[in-house]
Amino acid sequence: MVVTLHYNQIKGARKTMNRLHNYVGGEWIDQPVDSVDINPSDVNDVVAEYTQADAKLTLDAIGAASSAANDWARSNIQMRSDILDTIGNNIIARKDELGAVLSREEGKTLPEGVGEVVRAGSVFKFFAGEVLRLTGDLVPSVRTSVDIEITREPVGVVGIISPWNFPAAIPAWKIAPALAFGNTVVFKPATLVPAMAAEIAKIIVDVGLPPGVFNFLIGKGSEVGNTIVNDPRVNAISFTGSAATGQQIAKEAVARMAKFQLEMGGKNPLVVMDDADIDVAVNCAINGAYFSTGQRCTASSRLIVCKNIHDQFVKAMQDRLANTVVDNALKQGTHIGPVVDKNQLDQDLFYIEEAKKEGAKLIYGGNLLTRDTEGFYLEPALFTETENNMKVNQEEVFGPVATVIKVSDYDEALATANATNFGLSSGIVTKSLKYASHFRKNAQAGMVMVNLPTAGVDYHVPFGGAKGSSYGAREQGSYAKEFYTTVKTSYVSC
Ligand code: NAP
Repeated sequence: MVVTLHYNQIKGARKTMNRLHNYVGGEWIDQPVDSVDINPSDVNDVVAEYTQADAKLTLDAIGAASSAANDWARSNIQMRSDILDTIGNNIIARKDELGAVLSREEGKTLPEGVGEVVRAGSVFKFFAGEVLRLTGDLVPSVRTSVDIEITREPVGVVGIISPWNFPAAIPAWKIAPALAFGNTVVFKPATLVPAMAAEIAKIIVDVGLPPGVFNFLIGKGSEVGNTIVNDPRVNAISFTGSAATGQQIAKEAVARMAKFQLEMGGKNPLVVMDDADIDVAVNCAINGAYFSTGQRCTASSRLIVCKNIHDQFVKAMQDRLANTVVDNALKQGTHIGPVVDKNQLDQDLFYIEEAKKEGAKLIYGGNLLTRDTEGFYLEPALFTETENNMKVNQEEVFGPVATVIKVSDYDEALATANATNFGLSSGIVTKSLKYASHFRKNAQAGMVMVNLPTAGVDYHVPFGGAKGSSYGAREQGSYAKEFYTTVKTSYVSC
């Protein structure tokens, strides 16, 4: 939760010494504190204090990135590879400490926080290798005495805008390829999670990049983000966040012909077939729908269950939910941490009420919970008797809220799974090779999971969706070069 106040203006607040700064043109900028970053598991715990960057500082950062772009584009690839590998090693070496910062600030459990930090470090190490693997093509011309050379070049200045729910992994999978392929960076994390982002920024800066190659700004999307998106010196924008913000950025980027990629929301289905192993089905549904407090773009928010297994599945889900511990993210034994802040909690509660109004049956949870520390604790909610066209099944809730949609057979399950504007991740639990194969080919999603939760992906392969979930080139893996490089075709008379 971001509060635009000094910590000592918050009643009972405990002071921390974690003071965050913006980083522009090779300098950490020291300005008076105007904001604090609060732990959602314990609202009296101040994680960090910092100064919000404004439009002027953003313009300075873009100017610095622009000035540094030519030299960095031509920098030695062994040096770039070594830098990225060192950043990755330094992140992983501090996984426990940084995982604790992540959990304290964002509210996912400590094992989830540590796991995400390791993933972020692994992404940097992966792109350390990709620097050395970039190739071009030499092809014959249709004309005599002409050679053609196709090369990839850096795009230039890349603006990186990230969301709050993966404060280490998402910045890593954007910053690492940007630097790897010779681009300079202006990075703006979500203001809800500046502390984790600042730790990554410090590790990047400490490897000794030339001034201007990497710039870091903590500030509002409406000011810092908007300035990045609209500045003609920013050649490409990589955004992850909500569909509404993504659509606005798309309009602005198109208006000035900037390159952009958008990763946005999901309304991910998990189909449970009659022949499913019930334990696998429940494990996939509990993990996919509720872990990380349901705050994952790949969360399984729609559980599409065939009629013959429906009652057994619902009963098993209730039993598992009754044994699921919601508590402080840093506490050992916690399965689900708090909701990230009051705004998100209000959104979750709004959709729970809307679902009830539309006739869905709340069979588990949905209540606010009190714990030893004051935080945004919400009991995971499970609805049955829902229809796919209900608001709760068409709009992204982004919280620990899942619905069951009962269907008669595979054909209805597949049609229901695809009946959404989103298309990020789509899952099926079945023992049938026939259904699994057909689903993999016909699910309208960028990622398909068979007997696995819809959330949880590898760091070295493409990530992204179909329909309203994504726009532009894929992120991650070797496919990332499509966004972070531009292709040049040279004709040479020989
Ligand atoms: P959000 O509100 O759209 O914000 C995302 C980022 O955009 C933040 O850094 C935000 O800044 C910034 N921003 C807001 N308005 C802007 C503007 N007018 N111009 C430029 N930047 C602007 O999303 P969120 O609440 O942080 O994240 C949750 C959403 O992200 C969910 O919809 C989730 O599904 C999606 N997500 C998608 C993926 C994926 O890969 N598909 C992965 C993770 C999350 P401030 O918040 O600091 O103001």
